[in-house]
Amino acid sequence: MNLKERGLLLILSGPSGVGKGTVRKALFEKNTNLSYSISMTTRVPRPGEKDGVDYFFKSREEFEALIAKGRLLEWAEYAGNYYGTPLDYVEETLEKGKDVFLEIEVKGAMQVKQAFAHGVFLFLAPPSLAELRTRILGRGTEDESSIQRRLEAAREEIELMNHYDYVVVNDDIDAARERVEAIVVAEHCKRSRV
Ligand code: 5GP
Repeated sequence: MNLKERGLLLILSGPSGVGKGTVRKALFEKNTNLSYSISMTTRVPRPGEKDGVDYFFKSREEFEALIAKGRLLEWAEYAGNYYGTPLDYVEETLEKGKDVFLEIEVKGAMQVKQAFAHGVFLFLAPPSLAELRTRILGRGTEDESSIQRRLEAAREEIELMNHYDYVVVNDDIDAARERVEAIVVAEHCKRSRV
């Protein structure tokens, strides 16, 4: 009996500042069959961010050309910038049997849902909106207008939480990572039926 199958497509969304990146990094320290899909964006790099590691940083013209050529699995405009997932990377990696992890906002996630009905959709939620604001301010990377836009987006994103398969509250990094790991294990078991 050969149960080797295509990898799982895991989609993690959640408002800016909720800790998606931190939970993802903790998850990747322990899980070797996971592969992170590096997104394209037109946002300017934050201090310390590297092209090809954190994002592929593109001009608006380059990004629009990728959309026109159908090279993105999904894309969205968020807080004034484009963000999108490279289609080829996702397809090739799933084909190799590796799980692919997307960390994307909700409008993009809803597009993925149309294309990949078998994706596993996880929403990382803050304990409260007040706590979310504290976390965004604490990060110190955004100016006041960007903070406001991100909090407005957060309210809209939280309303779409019910479209996800799982909601994980990020009250503690290790606990959140453990919950995500448990979901990944369960989803693999679910698909191992022949
Ligand atoms: P940030 O500017 O804080 O790095 O990202 C802003 C938002 O865009 C976050 O919610 C992040 O998850 C999301 N994002 C990052 N990459 C992508 C992508 O490829 N597609 C979509 N739709 N959202 C993305």
